[in-house]
Amino acid sequence: MVEPYTTVIGLEVHVQLLTRTKLFCGCPNKFGLPPNSATCPVCLGLPGSLPVMNRTAFDLALRAALALNCRIAPFTKWDRKNYYYPDLPKNYQISQYDLPFSADGWLEIDVASASPGGHAGGNPPKRVGIIRVHLEEDAGKNLHDESGRGGDTRVDLNRTGTPLLEIVSKPDMNSPEEAVAYLEEIRLMMRELGVSDCEMQEGSLRCDANVNVHVPQASGGREPPGSPGFAATPLVEIKNLNSFRAVGRAIRHEAERQYREFQKDPEGYRFGKRLKETRGWDDDRGVTVGQRHKEEAADYRYFPDPDLVPVVVSPEQLDAVRAGMGELPQQQRSRLVSQYGLGDYDARVLTAKGRRMVAYFEAVAAALGDARTAANRISDLVYPALADRGEEIDAFPVPADVFARFLRETASSGQDPRRKAFAYMLEHGSDVSAAKAAVGIRDASEFDEATLRAAVAAAVAANPRAVADFKKGKEQAKMAIVGAVMRANKGAPNDVVRRLVDEELAKV
Ligand code: ZN
Ligand code: MN
Repeated sequence: MVEPYTTVIGLEVHVQLLTRTKLFCGCPNKFGLPPNSATCPVCLGLPGSLPVMNRTAFDLALRAALALNCRIAPFTKWDRKNYYYPDLPKNYQISQYDLPFSADGWLEIDVASASPGGHAGGNPPKRVGIIRVHLEEDAGKNLHDESGRGGDTRVDLNRTGTPLLEIVSKPDMNSPEEAVAYLEEIRLMMRELGVSDCEMQEGSLRCDANVNVHVPQASGGREPPGSPGFAATPLVEIKNLNSFRAVGRAIRHEAERQYREFQKDPEGYRFGKRLKETRGWDDDRGVTVGQRHKEEAADYRYFPDPDLVPVVVSPEQLDAVRAGMGELPQQQRSRLVSQYGLGDYDARVLTAKGRRMVAYFEAVAAALGDARTAANRISDLVYPALADRGEEIDAFPVPADVFARFLRETASSGQDPRRKAFAYMLEHGSDVSAAKAAVGIRDASEFDEATLRAAVAAAVAANPRAVADFKKGKEQAKMAIVGAVMRANKGAPNDVVRRLVDEELAKV
C-alpha cells in the first residue's frame, strides 16, 4: 500500500550497560534486588557525597559507539540536566550535553532480507544515521498503585545512577518495519558486544519514537524550511513503548492519526504554528494519548557538573577497545554469504541467533565439508529443537562434530527417518549409531546391489498405478517408486536406487 504521505521516524534508544556497579558509585547494578537495597549516599544525592566515574562503563560505551561507526571525541565532559521528579533524588541527572563522547555514526539495516526469499534484486541495505551516543545515569522507579483504589506511589532507587547509553538516530527511517529492523540490529549488536542484555521487559532497552508525516503539496508556500514542496505535521514523541511490536504498531497508528488531523485542517499546519507534543502509547487500546508539550533543551538548565573531571580518550585506549570487539553482526552476515555461499536470509537468521550459533554452524560446515547442507539441516533440525527445549546452543546436547557425523550417516535416509533419529538422539544422548538403529536406518555400505535390485522390482510390481502414469509420460511418478524403496530400506544409497528404478522401468 502506498500512503499519500511519507512517514519520518527518528528513534531515541536507551540501553542499560552490563556493568557490575553503577556509573558513579560502587552500588551493584542488578535487576530485581529488594527495593532500595542497592543505594548509597552518592546515588541518593546526599550532601557532601562525590561521584567517581566507572571506567568499565566508559569502555563499554566506547565499544558500542565504535560499533555504531561513531566519531569518538578526544575530550568529553559531564553535565547536569536539571529536573524535579520523585525518582531523581538529586533533582538533576548526570548526562552529557554539548560535548558527548561520540557522534556522527551510522547503522545499516536490511528490511528486504528479513523475510525468506527477500532481497532477490531487492533494495540494498539502508544506512540510518546516528546523531550522537552519550552516557548518562538512570533515574529510579516510581511504582504506582495500579489497583484502581487510589493507593500510594512508592519509590525504588535501586536503578538510580545505573549506566545508560543514549543512542539518538537521525530521522532516516520511513516505515514501522524499518524502525523495528533498526531496533533489532541495535539489540543484536549490543548483546553480541556484551554491552547490554537489552531486555525490553526489564527496561534494559527502552525506545522513544519521534514521528511526523510529510505531505507533498501541489502549491508551495506552506512547507517548512528545508523541505521544499512538502507540508509536515508537528513532531510527536511517543513514549511507553514496551515491546518491538508496540514500536511498530504505535508508529503506524501515529502516522495515520497525524495524516487524518492534517486533512481536517491543512492550513492549521503552517510551519511553527503547533508545538511539539509528547504522546504515550496505550497498548491495550492501540492508540497514542496526548501527554504534554515537549520541553526544550533550555528548560533543563544544563551546566557542567563541577563534581566530575572531564574524560580524555587516547588513541591507544581506542585501539584496545577495538581489539576486544570481535566480529560485528553486519560483518558476520557478509562473511557467511561470501565464505559459505549462504543466502541473505539464511545468513541473517544465523547471525541473529548469536555468535555461538554461528560458531556451531561453522564447525558443522567444516566437519561435513558442505556448508549449505549444514545450514539447511541446522535450520530444519537444530532451530526447532532449541525452541522446543527452550535452550541456547551452548547447552545443546548434540555437539557440532556429532551433528556433522549424524548428517553424513543419514544423508540418504530421507527426511522423516532422519528427523526421528535426531529426536531419539536428543532424548537418549549423542550416539549416532544407536539413533540410526532405533529408527532402522542402515549405512549405505550395508546395501548390496542385488538386494536393492530385488527391492526395486518388488516396488515396481506393487505400484502398477505409478508405473502406468510413468508410461503416460509423467516423470514424477517415478519418485513414488523411489520413495517406496527408500522407506523400506532406510539409508540405502539414493543415487543407486534411482539408477535401478530407471533400469527397471525401462524394462516394463
Ligand atoms: Zn550508590
Ligand atoms: Mn536520556
